[in-house]
Amino acid sequence: GEFRLSDFDMLKVLGRGNGGTVHKASHRRTSALYALKIIHRGHPGADEEVDVVRRVDSPHIVRCHSVLPTPSGDSALLLELMDGGSLDSLVRGGQGGFPEAALAEVAAQALAGLAYLRARRVVHRDMKPANLLVNRAGQVKIGDFGIAEVVSRAGKYRAAYEGTAAYMSPERFDTERLHDGEEDRVDPYAADVWGLGVTVLELLMGRYPLLPAGQELTWAALMCAICFGELPALPDGSASPELRSFVSACLQKDHRKRASVAELVAHPFVAGRDVAAARHALREVIAQRV
Ligand code: ATP
Ligand code: MG
Repeated sequence: GEFRLSDFDMLKVLGRGNGGTVHKASHRRTSALYALKIIHRGHPGADEEVDVVRRVDSPHIVRCHSVLPTPSGDSALLLELMDGGSLDSLVRGGQGGFPEAALAEVAAQALAGLAYLRARRVVHRDMKPANLLVNRAGQVKIGDFGIAEVVSRAGKYRAAYEGTAAYMSPERFDTERLHDGEEDRVDPYAADVWGLGVTVLELLMGRYPLLPAGQELTWAALMCAICFGELPALPDGSASPELRSFVSACLQKDHRKRASVAELVAHPFVAGRDVAAARHALREVIAQRV
C-alpha cells in the first residue's frame, strides 16, 4: 500500500476504548495529520470493524484512508483526523447544553450519515456522543464501527446484547427474543435512531438525559429507565415544539412506532432549520468548547 506504520510519528493519545487506542499521528514526509486507531488482534469484532470501514465512503462518515498491518498482528486504521474531537468531549468541555440551532445541524449531519449507512445496509449499533466526531469546519461525522454490522439481504443480523447500555434501545434489552429467532422481525436500523435521539437530548441538557442528574448509570437503573421510564420533562421555553417532536419521534419505545431515518430527514426540526444559521451556531459551539 501507499502507507506504512513506520511512516508515522505518534503525537498523543486521542482516546481509548474497548477495542484499542486512537493516536494523533503525523505522516513524517508530508506532515499531514491523521487519527490512527489500533485495533487489537483477537478483540471480538476486530475483523467486522475493518470490513465495515472498507465498505463505507461518505462525507458524513469518518474517512478511513487505509488499513495498515502492525508488527504484532493488530490492525491500524488510518483515519481522517477530526480536530474537534467527539460530541461527548464537547458536552463535558462546557457548561450546560448546546443552543438549539447547533443541535439541528448535528441532527441533520448525523442523519445524512445514517441515511448513507442505511443505503449500504450497515447498522452502526453504537450511536452516542463519543462516537460522533466533529471538526473545526463544523462537520459532524459518524465514527467507531467497532460493533457495526452489515444486514444480510434476508434481514438477518447479530442482535446480541452489545454496545453501551446507556444508549441501547428498549428492544435491544429484550434478550428473550434472541432465542426464538424473532430478532429478524425487529428493524435493526431503529436502534440507531434511538441512539441519535438520546444523543440530541444529551446535547440539549448537557448531561446524560435518561436518569436523574447524579444517579449512577448501573445496568438495572438504565434498563428500567429506558424500557419503562418517562422521557425527562423539558422546562417550558427550554426547547421548541419542533425539537420536542423530533426527540419524541426518535425515542418511541416501540421500535415499530419510531420514526425512520428518511422520516427524520424530512422532520421540520431538521428540514426547516435555517441552514446558514445552524452551521454558524455549531461552529461557535465547537470553537468555544474544544
Ligand atoms: P470501541 O467502541 O470499538 O471500543 P473505541 O471507543 O475504542 O472503539 P473510537 O470510538 O473509534 O474507539 O475512538 C475512541 C475515541 O478516540 C473517540 O471517542 C474520540 O475521542 C477519539 N477519536 C476516534 N477517532 C477519532 C478521529 N478520527 N479524530 C479524532 N479523534 C478520534
Ligand atoms: Mg467509541
